[in-house]
Amino acid sequence: MFRLVRKNGLSYYVIDSFEKTGLVKHCFTTREGGVSENEYKALNLRFNCSDKRENVLKNYKIICDAIDVDYKKLVISKQVHEDNICTVTIEDLGNGITKENRFTSADGLMCNETGIPIVTLYADCVPLYFLDVKNKAIAMSHSGWKGTVKNISAKTVQKMIDEFNSKPENILAAIGPSIGECHFEVGDEVAYHFMEMPCGVIKKYGEKYHVNLQKTIENQLLSVGILKQNLTVSGICTFCNSDLLFSHRKTNGKRGNMAAIMELI
Ligand SMILES: [Zn+2]
Repeated sequence: MFRLVRKNGLSYYVIDSFEKTGLVKHCFTTREGGVSENEYKALNLRFNCSDKRENVLKNYKIICDAIDVDYKKLVISKQVHEDNICTVTIEDLGNGITKENRFTSADGLMCNETGIPIVTLYADCVPLYFLDVKNKAIAMSHSGWKGTVKNISAKTVQKMIDEFNSKPENILAAIGPSIGECHFEVGDEVAYHFMEMPCGVIKKYGEKYHVNLQKTIENQLLSVGILKQNLTVSGICTFCNSDLLFSHRKTNGKRGNMAAIMELI
């Protein structure tokens, strides 16, 4: 499960199955515990918005201190709703935090070196975590509806197989907080992509279609060989929990970002 940890006014989730391995430091952040104000209140991890850069840096330091990660080493993604997954090495340390973000398109990051904390960002889209416990490699990917249609979840697993010689049965996977079926109403132009998928991922609420992204991704991961017992599905809706979590839809886009952070120890 995704378990909420609260300490000194800061809140973040950890994934029990990942924590138990002792192989990674990781979290999924919430809004609680940062220094940003107004729509960014409080733990905003989004640069390139009207929040002050110094606030965002402070927020990164606060959460990284709590999980014992050096925030100056963070390697931040460049999310453009595509399906590129970039391999990160020691050369990338500080990418997007102490130096310019070198990525042009990176909705997924992966790494098999220790000491490199990777970061992906969210506010309704689905965070995905992967950990190969045997070959010791990690990956994270950002699966919004577009990424889900592009099957970035399965592509991430495939890339771990290709680059790290991973076997799906050795990979722990987790699907984090995102907008739930309860609140993800979509127009016909989005709905039709999901109609050909296994049943249960799209439903009609009255006249409107609602898509269940977490369920769609669960199906995708099981079909590439991730074992059910190795898969954690959070079931947490960002819109339903918008006091704790940033939700793009709930706030009409006036919001900060949460982050998924993970580092191989
Ligand atoms: Zn909801």
